[in-house]
Amino acid sequence: MPSSPRSPQLPSFSVSAPAAPEPVVRRVAVIGAGLAGLSCADALRGHGHAVWLFDKSRGPSGRASTRRGEGWSCDHGAQYFTASDPAFVSEVRRWCETGVAALWSPRLRVIGEAPANLQRQPGQAAPIHRYVGVPTMTAPAQALAQRQRLLTGHTIDMLRRNDGDWRLRSAEHGWLEPGFDSVVLALPAPQAQALLLGVHDELATLAAREPMEPCWTVMALYERDPLPQFDAAFVNQPVLSWVCANHRKPARDMRACWVLQAQPAWSRAWLEAPPETVIEAMLAAFAALGADAAPRQALAHRWRYARGALAGAMPQAYGVGQRPRAAWDAAARLGMCGDWLCGGRIEGAWLSGRALAQAVCAPTPDGSPGAGVDPHSPVV
Ligand SMILES: Cc1cc2nc3c(=O)[nH]c(=O)nc-3n(C[C@H](O)[C@H](O)[C@H](O)COP(=O)(O)OP(=O)(O)OC[C@H]3O[C@@H](n4cnc5c(N)ncnc54)[C@H](O)[C@@H]3O)c2cc1C
Repeated sequence: MPSSPRSPQLPSFSVSAPAAPEPVVRRVAVIGAGLAGLSCADALRGHGHAVWLFDKSRGPSGRASTRRGEGWSCDHGAQYFTASDPAFVSEVRRWCETGVAALWSPRLRVIGEAPANLQRQPGQAAPIHRYVGVPTMTAPAQALAQRQRLLTGHTIDMLRRNDGDWRLRSAEHGWLEPGFDSVVLALPAPQAQALLLGVHDELATLAAREPMEPCWTVMALYERDPLPQFDAAFVNQPVLSWVCANHRKPARDMRACWVLQAQPAWSRAWLEAPPETVIEAMLAAFAALGADAAPRQALAHRWRYARGALAGAMPQAYGVGQRPRAAWDAAARLGMCGDWLCGGRIEGAWLSGRALAQAVCAPTPDGSPGAGVDPHSPVV
């Protein structure tokens, strides 16, 4: 196209820009395939890093879990999630669009008086949107895991670092070959602490600050619904803290199944009790709420490390970001993420994983590019 007579002709010259540094492909081991580990791995892969996820269980999703039996399934870990941070709001929107999550609007009761610190104040009446995975709470994690190299049945029981190379040992397969240049522990605090003892004492001490609360959970299956008056309730009584009609959540088409969760203090006191005793006590408390039938089957699950949120501030040396949501030692290339570092819920777990991924991607403090790796080399 001819240039306009008014436009000045710029002299032509070429500028040679400084060569962009070669992107470094990190070889990262993420231990724990709950929502924190998956979110971290997802972001790292998005930045082109080579990621291996290890989990001791048979599948991903951690405490956002579902128990399955003949003709029934039941979310016996996390019950639902909320979203307030814009990044997580977008993620949840994607989950809903792809059919792995849905809005859940239960008929919700509060039974008994909530402790003062949990009572909603006037003016805090904004509606809370609750979401569940569909058809089960594991669905979002399953979808994230599809994009990952996930090795299940790997209980990592030891870490060791030689010449900048992290080596992992699994209880089932022994020492894994080859090593990794970065390691992420996406585990409940006490489990992270156990792996860090003698490896990184400061991070171990940080994890030791969060003991995490237990939670006894009962799954009760009925021939007919024993309590049709509401879908779920927060319970402020000595034994129970939450009851929920699992079969009435979206996209569940199955027999009547109620989930009963015990109070943290009660769970702690009854931690070593036999499951039959726990079931009996929790069903009696459920009957006192109005459940008018006996279940045809009841199972108990003891969550030793159900929930927790780090008390106090993160040590400055390891906090990631202005409001630290994860811990990272850039020199050792070792970090921790998980719900307990960011408020103790599914949203916090996902945000913590994202925050740690950013730190892993950042250049090392001395500007060194790190080890060159073949992202496709196998782990055995
Ligand atoms: C009973 C209960 C009810 C809850 N209710 C809600 C709720 O309603 N809403 C909400 O938002 N949150 C709820 N939560 C909390 C929620 O489940 C967690 O915040 C979230 O799932 C934590 O994710 P995470 O990735 O940090 O940890 P996890 O989900 O615990 O993931 C850690 C993973 O590490 C694996 N692992 C552990 N040790 C090793 C090892 N040595 N080697 C390899 N793998 C290992 C585990 O198998 C697990 O998969 C609830 C939790 C429980 C237990």
